[in-house]
Amino acid sequence: MKINDVFNSYTRKEKSAIYKVIKKYKLSGTSPIIQKYEQKLSNFFNSSYAVALSSGTAAIHCALFVLEINDGDEVIVPPIAPIMTLIPLLQQKAIPVFVDCKNDQFSYDILALEKCITKKTKAIITVPMWGYPYEYSELIEICKKNKIYLIEDNAQAHGTIYQGKVIGNNGVISCYSTHNRKILSTGEEGFILTNNLDIYNRVKAFSKFGNMDFKTFGVNYKLSALQAALGIERIKKINWQIRVREKNARDVLSELNNKYIEEINYPKNSKPNYYSLVLRFKSVNDVLKIRKRMNNKGIPSDVIRYKLKPLYEYPLFEDWKNDCGNAEKLVNSITTIPVHPGIKNKDKQFIITVLNNIISEI
Ligand SMILES: *Cc1c(COP(=O)(O)O)cnc(C)c1O
Repeated sequence: MKINDVFNSYTRKEKSAIYKVIKKYKLSGTSPIIQKYEQKLSNFFNSSYAVALSSGTAAIHCALFVLEINDGDEVIVPPIAPIMTLIPLLQQKAIPVFVDCKNDQFSYDILALEKCITKKTKAIITVPMWGYPYEYSELIEICKKNKIYLIEDNAQAHGTIYQGKVIGNNGVISCYSTHNRKILSTGEEGFILTNNLDIYNRVKAFSKFGNMDFKTFGVNYKLSALQAALGIERIKKINWQIRVREKNARDVLSELNNKYIEEINYPKNSKPNYYSLVLRFKSVNDVLKIRKRMNNKGIPSDVIRYKLKPLYEYPLFEDWKNDCGNAEKLVNSITTIPVHPGIKNKDKQFIITVLNNIISEI
């Protein structure tokens, strides 16, 4: 048996929406359907403005560019993040400052974070891995006090809830991807959200050759009309997806031997979107072996797929190595479980049996 780790299904409605665009609209990023899509995005996330872009990485680059984060500026980042969060920092020649997480969740260790703030600190980036929210209120305070920006990389966190609200408005800009693996997926694409009109205008200009005014610098990060059409249809299904994912996660958790396994922790009054269920093995030494065995049995783990370790352990980032003991321990004690709507009852049963068997043998 092989459990599929991406949810891929499309409906007749999606097909006819794309067909209609081909027949009726311009296909480029200046097509009127782009504006319609941006309206739907800002509505869904309760944000004032959205700008549709060609990728999640482009969204992060836009954020850094318009906030004027450049050569030598420091940006606080988590060591447990995908490489894509960091690439735009290197593009801007900014300096990543890796700050440790708390000992039981992805959220920043606030004491460690405060010690890393210097005169050069321009921003803090949050990355809710697999849709597990950070503790934002303490970060918002720190940002206010130190006059630095909070940037959300929510590429995996469409619809994640914090203090009763969908995240996306905690920072000055939030960045999203709609790559094939994400909960809102259009293949390749991204967008930003903001409540600041000036920032919105600057992202628009930067992503469209500086509005071609021949005064303003800009690149081409526009997305195509076909993807906007698909996005408009799929926004409607985000909440349904999250409900199914949560139910699947609950079903799996309720049957696992919880003496050894628990769900990773997250802030109170919040709710992950279950991009993946993240399990933490308690007092188990050889999680590496467990993950490999699960993978061989056909239960894929993102920890294996992405060769996940603290980013500063890779050559590209080793110059900025920092002491992040909690993150190092956490990475070695977790695994992810697919819980998307393509997971059927027999898949859940299989996951439970395999995991409980492995656990009983250690
Ligand atoms: C997917 C992802 C990105 C990059 O998005 P792309 O659309 O692939 O460029 C950035 N950050 C995180 C956390 C992601 O999961």
